[in-house]
Amino acid sequence: MYNSVMDKKQRISIWYFLIAFWLLIIFQEVYLASQHLDEVPYSQFKIWLAEDKVDEIAITDTEINGKLKPETPDKEPQWFKTIRVDDPNLVKQLEEKGVEYAGVIVSTLWRDVASWVIPILIFAGVWFWLLRKMGQGAGGGFMRIGQSKAKIYVEKDIKVKMSDVAGVDEAKDELVEVIEFLKTPQKFTRIGGRIPKGVLLVGPPGTGKTLLAKAIAGESGVTFFSISGSEFVEMFVGVGAARVRDLFEQAKGKAPCIIFIDELDALGKARGTGPMTHEEREQTLNQLLVEMDGFDPKVGVIILAATNRPEILDPALMRAGRFDRQVLVDRPDRKGREAILKIHSKIIQMGPDVKLENIAAMTPGMVGADLANIINEGALLAVRRDREIVEQRDLEEAVERVVAGLEKKNRILSQEERRRVAHHEIGHALVALSLKGVDPVQKISIIPRGIAALGYTLQTPTEDRYLLTRSELENKIAVLLGGRIAEEIVFGEASTGAADDLQKATNIAKRMVKDYGMSDLLGTVSLENAAQPTFLQTRESSYGHEYSEETAREIDQEVRKFIDNQANRVKDLLTELKPVLLEAAQVLMTKETMTGDDLRALMEGREKGAGLQTI
Ligand code: ADP
Ligand code: MG
Ligand code: ZN
Repeated sequence: MYNSVMDKKQRISIWYFLIAFWLLIIFQEVYLASQHLDEVPYSQFKIWLAEDKVDEIAITDTEINGKLKPETPDKEPQWFKTIRVDDPNLVKQLEEKGVEYAGVIVSTLWRDVASWVIPILIFAGVWFWLLRKMGQGAGGGFMRIGQSKAKIYVEKDIKVKMSDVAGVDEAKDELVEVIEFLKTPQKFTRIGGRIPKGVLLVGPPGTGKTLLAKAIAGESGVTFFSISGSEFVEMFVGVGAARVRDLFEQAKGKAPCIIFIDELDALGKARGTGPMTHEEREQTLNQLLVEMDGFDPKVGVIILAATNRPEILDPALMRAGRFDRQVLVDRPDRKGREAILKIHSKIIQMGPDVKLENIAAMTPGMVGADLANIINEGALLAVRRDREIVEQRDLEEAVERVVAGLEKKNRILSQEERRRVAHHEIGHALVALSLKGVDPVQKISIIPRGIAALGYTLQTPTEDRYLLTRSELENKIAVLLGGRIAEEIVFGEASTGAADDLQKATNIAKRMVKDYGMSDLLGTVSLENAAQPTFLQTRESSYGHEYSEETAREIDQEVRKFIDNQANRVKDLLTELKPVLLEAAQVLMTKETMTGDDLRALMEGREKGAGLQTI
C-alpha cells in the first residue's frame, strides 16, 4: 500500500507540472496577444495624422497607442502603437486635426506583474484542487502541509458489525466488554468494572484484526479514529509526534471513541533495534507512550492497536496502563472457516451444489483474508465461464489458485504431513494426560502457524512453579518425547518434525545431571558454576568445562540414560494407548483443534471398556 500511494503522488505531480506549464504558456499567449497592437513607425503615424485618419490616441511616457477612424462606419477601427519620439509639434498638430488625445501615466509594470501573478494563482489553484482530490481518494483528510491533522481518518457510522467477523470467537468474547464500555462508559465505571485502556490485537496477517477493530466501532456506534503505524514512518521528522498529540487531542473531544493504531509494529519496534534506528519513529513512539500514560480511561477513549509481530514491539508498550490487554486473533479452525466463507458468500449467488463445509475442509491454515479471496476468485471464474451463479467447481478451482499462492509461503501441509502432525501432537497430549504432576493440556491443534510450528499442544501451568522435583522433570521429558514416539509407533519411523522437542528434552536432562545433581552416577554435585541462565533455559557450553574428559563422557552417558528411560516409559504407555492415539488423531484431523477435555473424554471412554490402567 505504501508503494501505490507513492506512485500516485509522483504521477500526480508530473501531471500537475505538465498541466500548469501548459496553462502558463496558453495564458501568456492569450494575454500578450490581447496587448498586441500593430506596431507602426512614428513616420507612419505622422502620415496617418496628416491624412486625418487618426481618431484618438493615448500618450504614455514611452509610446503612443491609438485608434484609426474606421474606413466605413461598419468596419472595426484599427488599433496601432508606435514608439514615442520627441516631437514638440505633436500637440499642436493633434489639435489642428481635432484628434482626441490624453496623456496616460502607464507603467507597464502592472502588465508584467499580472502576466506572472495570474499564472501563479492558477498554479496554486490547480495544486490545491489536486490535493483535495488526492485526500478524498485516500479516504479522509489528506495531509495539509505543515499541519498535524493529516492522515488521521475519522469515521462515523461504521457499518461493520461483529456478525461480519467469524472464526475468531475467543477474541470476540474478549472484546464484548470493550463494546459494553464504549456504549455506556458511565454505567461501567459505576459498577466498578476494570476499564480497559489499551487493547492489542495480536495475530497473523489476514485474520481480521482491522475488521474486528471496525466491528467494535460499528457495534458501539462511536467515532473511530484510525491511523496506521506504517504511515508514521513516511512522515517528516517532528510530524509524527505532533500527529499523535493531535490524535489524542481530537479523540478526547469526541469521547466515547476509539483510537485505532494499525500495524503498531511499524511504529513500536523495540527502540534501538533494526538496521536503522529511526529517530523519528522513536519520537513518535515516545509521544504515544506519554499520551497513553497521560489520559484517564474514564473519559471513554479506548486505544486499540493491531500487530502481527508482537515479539518486536517495544516492551514499554505492554506495561500496565498501556496495552496491558492482549487479544489473540488466531487462524480459524474448520468450523470457523466455514462461517467466514458463509459471510463472504452472502453477496454472491451460490449454486445449489455449493458445499462450503467442503471448502472449509480443503483449506486448513488459511485465514479470513484467504477465504474472502477464494469466494472472490470463485465468482470471477464463474463470470469468466458466462455464469451468474457460482458452482462448487469454481470454488474448488479458486482454492487451488489460492493454495498455489500460499504454498510459496510454506503454509499448507499435504494430507500425509497432516496425518503425521496429528499423531505427533496427540502423542504429546496423551502422555501429558496420563502422567501425574504435568501441566494440564489445554488445547491441541494442527492448524499450521508459520513455517516453524506445524501443530502444537498447549499446556497451561496450574500455578507458577519455582521448584520442580526430579520426577516432574522426568515427566516433562516424557511429554516432549511423546510426539516423536507416537510417530514411530504409528508410522514405523520418526520424522524431522521432532527436532525441537528432542533438543528441549536433552537440555532438561543435561541440567538435571549437571546443575541439579540428580544423577545417581555423578552424585549430588553441580558441574557448572557460570552465570546461571534462567530455569530450563538452554545453556551454551562455551564457557569451557570445569570437569575432566572422563566426567564429560559420564555426563553424556547419564543424559542418555535419562532420555532412554523416559523414551521406554513413553513407548510402553503409547503402545498401550495406541487405539486411543489412532482414534484421537482421526478426530483431530477433521476438527483441527481439540481441547484437553475432549481428549480425556475420549480416553476415559475407551479405558472403561478396555480396563486399561494409566501410569
Ligand atoms: P488483518 O488486519 O488481521 O491483517 P483484515 O482485517 O485486514 O486482517 O482482513 C482482511 C479482509 O479479510 C477483511 O476485510 C475481511 O474481508 C476478510 N477477513 C479476515 N478475517 C476475517 C474474519 N475473521 N471474518 C470475516 N472476514 C475476514
Ligand atoms: Mg490489518
Ligand atoms: Zn512436538
